[in-house]
Amino acid sequence: MACERYLNAINELVDGTLGPLRRAELELHLEACEDCAALLGDLREIQRATDALEDLQPPSRVWTQIAQQLHQEGRVAESPRGFMRRPSNTLIGLAAALILAVGASLLMLVPRRDAAAPPPTNASTAPVPEPAGLS
Ligand SMILES: [Zn+2]
Repeated sequence: MACERYLNAINELVDGTLGPLRRAELELHLEACEDCAALLGDLREIQRATDALEDLQPPSRVWTQIAQQLHQEGRVAESPRGFMRRPSNTLIGLAAALILAVGASLLMLVPRRDAAAPPPTNASTAPVPEPAGLS
């Protein structure tokens, strides 16, 4: 049946990814074919309904359960606990870079003791002149 060759085009039209040439060809077919026009109407209605739904965020335990299931089915080699607990190499690298940056910043804040600079003056070691006329 000729309609089968338009199924992908109808889906792409609903998704907004159909090119102009295929769109023109599809529109010619839709004018002559009630079944494909009805399918397009149904898909657009489904799209409107799903667009109106609010996003749901699954609880975090769902991802752990999925990871456990994948591990049990042998689809992933690593156990979910190890996967969830072990920090990635990227995180370790970022942490090391952060430590280096903070350390370098602290070194720049501490004043250097330069050998050529004069020693700091200390008033308590300077000789105190005795007041005249008291002894
Ligand atoms: Zn058709």
